[in-house]
Amino acid sequence: MMQIAILGRDGVINEAPDGCIASPSDWRPIRGSLEAIARLHRAGWRVVVAMNEPAIASGQLDLDALARINETMLRRVIESGGVIDAVFFCPHAPQAGCHCHKPQPGLLQDIASRLRIRLDDVPAIGDSLNDIRAARTAGAHPMLVKTGKGFGTVGSPELKHDIPVYDDLYSAVDGLLGHAHS
Ligand SMILES: [Zn+2]
Repeated sequence: MMQIAILGRDGVINEAPDGCIASPSDWRPIRGSLEAIARLHRAGWRVVVAMNEPAIASGQLDLDALARINETMLRRVIESGGVIDAVFFCPHAPQAGCHCHKPQPGLLQDIASRLRIRLDDVPAIGDSLNDIRAARTAGAHPMLVKTGKGFGTVGSPELKHDIPVYDDLYSAVDGLLGHAHS
């Protein structure tokens, strides 16, 4: 059976700046994240990114710039031996009331319908409460990394003990692959 992991982008795969990532040169991978995606790929997993990008709605970023940034990410992943199958993003403002802005579950539900999968066994790895809420509502398995906003998220009372917490994506992939070396 095909296994799929859903990852946040900022704070999970790449360093999260205070504002948005505005150009490809701002995109910097978190240590070990590219190798983590390569390990998933070698183990037969498909990797899909689900991200909010409110900078589109605010006008800080246009769709072409976002595409160039994400292409940089996809290229760097491929150069490291991995593959990201798809990037799903919400371009709306947080207050827009859309169904796709995490913590809403729409992005994850779109992934499920496009890939024709159920989310029951799908880990959704994020650094924020929004990621965890979206994963819970969509019926996926939330996992938290302490990179990005994650170090602050760990202390939230909303974070129940049943959510696995990892130092970073590399450790989370260790958890998913059962520490198997691949
Ligand atoms: Zn949206």
